[in-house]
Amino acid sequence: MKKHSLQVAVVGVMQTNCYLLSNTETKETIIVDPGDQGNRIVQVCLKEELRPVGILLTHGHFDHIGGVKALTDAFRVPVYASEAEEELLAEPGMNLSAKFQGYSISLVPDVLLADGEEFSLAGFRIKAIHTPGHTGGGMCYYLPEESILFSGDTLFRHTYGRTDLPTSSFARLKDSLIHKLFVLPEEIEAFPGHGNATTIGEEKKKNPIWGD
Ligand SMILES: [Zn+2]
Repeated sequence: MKKHSLQVAVVGVMQTNCYLLSNTETKETIIVDPGDQGNRIVQVCLKEELRPVGILLTHGHFDHIGGVKALTDAFRVPVYASEAEEELLAEPGMNLSAKFQGYSISLVPDVLLADGEEFSLAGFRIKAIHTPGHTGGGMCYYLPEESILFSGDTLFRHTYGRTDLPTSSFARLKDSLIHKLFVLPEEIEAFPGHGNATTIGEEKKKNPIWGD
């Protein structure tokens, strides 16, 4: 039975979706990709009396990590990311913060996840699915009991992430979409890093990756 409430805050110049996934019984909350405006996200948590318990990063680009510091300063919660994203998170030249954010961001995650690793947070079972392509350490987060996938910049509604950036690979992205995400149940709702939500079934039919 579903026990979550999900809200989205669209943050920063890249209009990144920062998701707040709360356990409705305990108010424990997972924050996905606090890309910018960290203080605004802190205020949302305080106002709604949410209890942040962890930050999940789908990948290391500046527009997905810019709000992390304000949140960890306020709530002292661990940051989760793929073990394959360590270098990009640490390197402002690779995470593009030096170029596009106007200041350098260098992050060291507290928990490094491997492909297929399962963990629980806020009372939810979460499976980490490594989906390289947009970046080498792209990670999607799948919550089977809640029928939710956080798909980062790997899968968007009717499209997919760009592959012309440091550690990108189109061949790996295509493989990730077809063999890692489109094998999930069709009813799973996918919440991407930018734009509207979709479902696995919809993308199996409509995503242009099949012809690209
Ligand atoms: Zn990105």
